[in-house]
Amino acid sequence: MPYTLENAGKKAIITGITGQDAAYLAKLLLDKGYKLIGVCRKDKGADFSRLAYLNIKDKIEFVEYDLVNQGECMDLIDHYQPDEVYNLAAQSSVSYSFHHPRETIEFNIISVLNMLEAIRMKAHQTRFYQASSSEMYGIVHQLPITIDSVLHPVSPYGISKAAAHWLVSQYRDSYKLFAVSGILFNHESYLRQESFFVKKVITSAIKIKQGQQQNMHVGSIDIKRDFGSAQEYVNAIWLMLQHETPKDYLVCTGSSISLRDIIYYVFDQMNIDRGKVIVDHSLVRPSEIQDIYGDASPIYDDLQWRSGGDFYKVLDELMKEEWLNYGR
Ligand code: NAP
Repeated sequence: MPYTLENAGKKAIITGITGQDAAYLAKLLLDKGYKLIGVCRKDKGADFSRLAYLNIKDKIEFVEYDLVNQGECMDLIDHYQPDEVYNLAAQSSVSYSFHHPRETIEFNIISVLNMLEAIRMKAHQTRFYQASSSEMYGIVHQLPITIDSVLHPVSPYGISKAAAHWLVSQYRDSYKLFAVSGILFNHESYLRQESFFVKKVITSAIKIKQGQQQNMHVGSIDIKRDFGSAQEYVNAIWLMLQHETPKDYLVCTGSSISLRDIIYYVFDQMNIDRGKVIVDHSLVRPSEIQDIYGDASPIYDDLQWRSGGDFYKVLDELMKEEWLNYGR
């Protein structure tokens, strides 16, 4: 992505700078000439390995703020007066949210409220992006999901994201903030946390191949998701904040694929016996979306963004990258 004069000197804050999406988004923004401030949490040592992997760690100013603390959010926004805020920090695991509902609800909602309040009071011109999620839809009444589909979340994570989503909508309507939500469907990369499904399948397959693991234990594998690539999706995130009007979009491929198909594709590519997949009922979640995919046409019509589409090609790339880095 070339350095562009129109973005040179723009200042952006990315919360959750140590995460998957933040790493690829930071790379994209740095390539465009942005100055970046990356917010890390205060209560835990920051893991910069994703940023180091992309060779951008030294190009970001890191700051520690407690986003659940309203005064600290005010200070952050007031001090930096950013052109754009990309709010990616969140407890992002659906599974974890069932075991830690309070932590998930508290952080994922209050941090968003604090950021919106800070922008409303201290930097009204700042453009704000919120990382919403397809998990907000939960019980699906009709496919494909559109921006107007009913939100009916089935996990504490989905509920937290839905509440934050409505806060963004309310601040946009009530206070005329440039605040938008990108409703992203699952997106994967080499930099995904190890516990997430696609990363787990690929790393488990490699470990089985190397004789370091016997089997792979999984929960429900006949559910279907709309999977895409994180590198592609961060471009959609950026485009949403460049649009002339603040508007929410679904970011998706438009079709779904079952977890079983992903496992069998990866195992077959590596010549691993499918019998090594063990369904473990302790890993089944209390409630689960069965099938979900979104309508990808509005974001293409307005922002000319579309996903590459073929998730098997993404899987091929991920397997290649995982093998290259294995054991490093
Ligand atoms: P990720 O890799 O899990 O990154 C989450 C980031 O949030 C990390 O920097 C993490 O910091 C930070 N964070 C978590 N809990 C926190 C807390 N209590 N206080 C402060 N910071 C905290 O997630 P991602 O995949 O990049 O996703 C980025 C955003 O998009 C998240 O909001 C996620 O919910 C949302 N989203 C993701 C997907 C997807 O498929 N990836 C789909 C829809 C929406 P630590 O490193 O210190 O833990």
